[in-house]
Amino acid sequence: MRIAVVADVHANLEAFQAVLAHAAAAGGVAEVWSLGDIVGYGPDPAACIALLHTYAYVSIAGNHDYAATGVIGTEDFNPLAAEAARWTATQLSLEDQLWLSNLSAVHIEGEFTLAHGSLNDPVWDYLVSAEGARDHLGHQTTPYGLVGHSHLPLLFTEGQTRLQEALLGDGEDVTMGSRRFVANPGSVGQPRDGDPRAAYGLLDTEQRQLGFHRVPYDIELTQAKMRAGGLSDYLAQRLEEGR
Ligand code: ZN
Repeated sequence: MRIAVVADVHANLEAFQAVLAHAAAAGGVAEVWSLGDIVGYGPDPAACIALLHTYAYVSIAGNHDYAATGVIGTEDFNPLAAEAARWTATQLSLEDQLWLSNLSAVHIEGEFTLAHGSLNDPVWDYLVSAEGARDHLGHQTTPYGLVGHSHLPLLFTEGQTRLQEALLGDGEDVTMGSRRFVANPGSVGQPRDGDPRAAYGLLDTEQRQLGFHRVPYDIELTQAKMRAGGLSDYLAQRLEEGR
């Protein structure tokens, strides 16, 4: 089975459509797995939820999903993120709000454990260090893990003596072999590794591979919608810089 693994879509419909089109062109997918933060920051929260719902999907919650629906407060958000969360709340139907607020923070699907942050703190932890990954893997009961939140395409693999850590680029693959790992496919809707192209993962459970991909999309269209909708110019600007 082939699965598109998406994290941090952040209400960016053009980026979400672009990665799904890329996955379709690469042979299509049976499911889409969302690792949280499908909403927040971007201009199309309802349309991104609707697009996910056109697929067989698995979804967990991110901090922005919970903040937009009042499950958590925005005290720990920076001012722009908090403002975006309030804006997002105004764009969601009651049905979408219920769906988001009922998402669980951790989910096990076959050989994979899915969490937005990490198993150290599913909603808030940024899994960006070997030390954090070691703690996470200590809690991970499945061979493989998938996380989001940092918006960085990262891979932490257990070695015989030490943990290997890598920032992965377009077209790189990781094999589902004997070594346990936790991977972040990068962010679909707001990449922060200096590459503004949408990032996602293509999982093939028969080939036993997780591929990392980058896909260009119409950034200017997303930015125009953000500005027209009254979202902050800084949030629009950062999309073209990939930071
Ligand atoms: Zn995010």
